Amino acid sequence: MSKTILFDLTAAELERFVTDMGQPRFRAKQIAEWMGRGAPDFSVMKNIPEKLRNDLDVVAQTLPVRVVRKLSSTDGQTVKFLLELNDGEKIECVLMRTSYGNSVCVSSQAGCAMGCKFCASTLLGLKRNLTINEIFSQILVAQWELRSDKLSDKPIRPNGDANNDDVSHIVVMGTGEPLQNTENVIGFIERANHDMGIGWRRITVSTCGIVPGIDRLIEWGRPINLAISLHAPNDELRKKIMPIANKYSIAEIMDAAWRFTDTHNRQLMIEYILLGDADGNLLNATPECANELVEIVRGKNCMVNLIPWNAVAERDFTSPSGNAVHRFQDILIKNGVHTRIRRERGTDIGSACGQLRISG
Ligand code: SF4
Repeated sequence: MSKTILFDLTAAELERFVTDMGQPRFRAKQIAEWMGRGAPDFSVMKNIPEKLRNDLDVVAQTLPVRVVRKLSSTDGQTVKFLLELNDGEKIECVLMRTSYGNSVCVSSQAGCAMGCKFCASTLLGLKRNLTINEIFSQILVAQWELRSDKLSDKPIRPNGDANNDDVSHIVVMGTGEPLQNTENVIGFIERANHDMGIGWRRITVSTCGIVPGIDRLIEWGRPINLAISLHAPNDELRKKIMPIANKYSIAEIMDAAWRFTDTHNRQLMIEYILLGDADGNLLNATPECANELVEIVRGKNCMVNLIPWNAVAERDFTSPSGNAVHRFQDILIKNGVHTRIRRERGTDIGSACGQLRISG
């Protein structure tokens, strides 16, 4: 018999569930509060009698995701969770403790259909879209990690303000293409903002360039951040590393992206992984590529994140030398482009960009 996922029930359904077990209604509220903190199971619900906790454990589970593996980086600042969904599919999410807050990178799909040549997340293809609750639960898993030893200290987000023990930023940049699951991603963001007080401007959606999805975000109208995974400065090269380039040209993607940022007066993030080919020759990291990239972003409000390639065993790329990376960046800077070389977090646990995959 499959267990009932209590997190998927409405408040009224949860109340009925506990009263059907012969329990008073207030137990439903207690259970809901624990689940809102990310309680992974019933054993931690100390204000609920042990017998009821055991009975619940037989027929129900809290969240629609279960942590099957947890890896911490050597500096302890990055934690990667391998999560199992109820149908056995696996996804990953990553908690990063940073100087500006606690950021969680969530997955929006199990697997990915986009087939980017440098990415580990697409190796097994797309399995399915995640539900709103499955995406939201990833935030709760991270919140539990941050708060589980301090539960008695403070309520969750008393004033909607972030503090050191709360998830404060979200990036939808894990496994999957968010704009292939746009409505559930929107539902998730609405909920993260409403239930956890995470401001729109602290939420970033990253896309490889699904133009109708960007248009949908414009229509939705929330002032979140948009990141474009560009990774090449011309269509010819982009087609070699990102199959989506056969569907949408860089001109079409950037036109939609600028319309988004103009609507919300936001800075566009551009993600650009610097790659060498298998022989160590620069692929998209040549000075010519840097100059082409300048022409795409000249005079626009954007930040170019340069990401030196992270090794993925099954992928045949190399990482450009430090000199090549800096030469590329210098060209952007000299032309007035805001840019930074992204400090990779969690490379030792395979959670840096392009490394997320089902590994456990
Ligand atoms: S980079 Fe993003 S869109 Fe491309 S295959 Fe990986 S997860 Fe999918």
